[in-house]
Amino acid sequence: MPAGSTHSSTVFAVPYIEVEKGVPVCLLCGHRGLEHFASAGHAAAEKLWTELLARMTQLESELRSEVSNESSSFSEVLARAWIGEIRYVAGQDEERFGQVQQAFAQLMLGQRLSAAAGSLVGVQQAFDRALTDANRTPEPMWKNQRWQLPPPPAPEHDFPWSSRPHDVTLKLSAATPPEVFDALSIQALSREGISAQPDGGLWCSHCEVAVLSLREHLGPPSAEAQHHLRQRSSATSSAARLRSEGWKLSREGLWLSQHRFHCGLCTVSGSWRLVWEHRSSHCHVEACAALSKNASAAAVQSRALHSLGSDAEQAWEAAFKAADRLGE
Ligand SMILES: [Zn+2]
Ligand SMILES: [Zn+2]
Ligand SMILES: [Zn+2]
Repeated sequence: MPAGSTHSSTVFAVPYIEVEKGVPVCLLCGHRGLEHFASAGHAAAEKLWTELLARMTQLESELRSEVSNESSSFSEVLARAWIGEIRYVAGQDEERFGQVQQAFAQLMLGQRLSAAAGSLVGVQQAFDRALTDANRTPEPMWKNQRWQLPPPPAPEHDFPWSSRPHDVTLKLSAATPPEVFDALSIQALSREGISAQPDGGLWCSHCEVAVLSLREHLGPPSAEAQHHLRQRSSATSSAARLRSEGWKLSREGLWLSQHRFHCGLCTVSGSWRLVWEHRSSHCHVEACAALSKNASAAAVQSRALHSLGSDAEQAWEAAFKAADRLGE
């Protein structure tokens, strides 16, 4: 594939992989990035997918034998019974199947079986086609794919960011008269991480709570305001660390989107501010160690990608510089 080609030219035969801006997305696990496809969590999900396909294939052969014995008067009743049976197996609520089943039901069985209702032959044919699609091929040969560096997150959009964090402190004290809180400008509030929501309420992105009273939330004597100050200072230092060494995250399957972090290696996500905590957690350190020893094509490619570290560093710095310019 030529350099610079876009996702439109990359068509995967596996129905649970999509490519978004050059980055593969796993619909089974809800995670993206090359590293994810070398993770233990993905290997388990892929195994379940294969098991589910085997169960469905068994069901399809039972259905096929029933179609040949069919007497037409029963057709509609039998068709409904079979759709129920297929849905039951696809969606059987065993805990460990979870998302894999959901992906199967959505991707393979969604529209098709509803359309086929009424005719037993139709149900059999739709089910057969769904299985053919699901069975297409194993996962792509990752080594044949060209990967792009994951794009850096957008400060402010993907995590709270102020280009001048030391300007943010409003001079509020226990003696500040209450009417001052009502007169705070949108700009002053946004420096405190507070913004107006479409429903007219206020939201504090540092505390991740709705603000019911500005005086309670920002007025120094209240416990809520003390909490706000601690959250703001931890958010400011997490964001500063993102600027200086956030580019390393992309080498470990971590990314930030809309104030949340996602880890494709551990298949977890959470509040953006926990990204550093997650990065130093036992499970993540183990997953990175496993990736560094993993011999799968995805892991080998991801290690090759890591040698492009300086490009990643420049891309991150450029994203922050752009945010600085917007904030001026
Ligand atoms: Zn996966
Ligand atoms: Zn707050
Ligand atoms: Zn992790």
